[in-house]
Amino acid sequence: MGLAYRRVLLKLSGEALMGDLAYGIDPTVVDGIADEIAEIVASGVQIAIVVGGGNIFRGVKGAASGMERATADYVGMIATVMNAITLQDALERKNVLSRVQTAIEMKEVAEPYIRRRAMRHLEKGRVVIFGAGSGNPFFTTDTTAALRAAEISADLLFKATKVDGIYDADPKTNPDAKRYESLTYSHVLQHDLKVMDSTAISLCKDNDIPIMVFDLSVKGNVKRAVMGESIGTIVGG
Ligand code: UDP
Repeated sequence: MGLAYRRVLLKLSGEALMGDLAYGIDPTVVDGIADEIAEIVASGVQIAIVVGGGNIFRGVKGAASGMERATADYVGMIATVMNAITLQDALERKNVLSRVQTAIEMKEVAEPYIRRRAMRHLEKGRVVIFGAGSGNPFFTTDTTAALRAAEISADLLFKATKVDGIYDADPKTNPDAKRYESLTYSHVLQHDLKVMDSTAISLCKDNDIPIMVFDLSVKGNVKRAVMGESIGTIVGG
């Protein structure tokens, strides 16, 4: 089977790195994700990753406990850099070349975000991990994922979740819940389906970037998704 995509963007939430822990990073889980990414790189698909930070700090939560929202968001963005560097370390132990680029300069630990340089890394087969979100408070890493996907002309945005797609009801409480094979952006927006925030969906819609929602915890899923298998729900035009 040939490659379905040339260049993809994978959005990993902070929770994806947390496994069953209540907080922080589970090294075994990160190691497993790195295995999957290594396979994709070996198959020749270029991959960029946006990592979240919800396993460490979320701006909204900080604001709810009294912090100024913008300040809390900056803490959240810095938290994503910890995840980015941890993921890079796991990839390097598997001999996968990677670069971390941050939207807030931290040049002792990572490159600053430079779009053209990121594209060059990808062309050379390096994984590019984008840290520090978009660099702007009041945004999310989902929106960052949509933004970076548009900037690097990714063929598709992979949104890794803990369920294998989008359902018409909650599959945990309703045994008759049906998984959608595909959905339109408008449907997701109109029904306020909790796939990604509406800013992220709108950005994908405006730039024609399909979103594949899939379950990251099933081994081999990332590879299957990249090879074009229908393993989740595709959101498109
Ligand atoms: N954040 C931000 N601007 C961005 C991206 C992220 O301010 O462009 C902050 C925000 O406070 C957010 C936190 O970083 O709560 C962590 O990101 P997010 O909640 O998107 O992570 P995830 O849910 O994917 O783990």
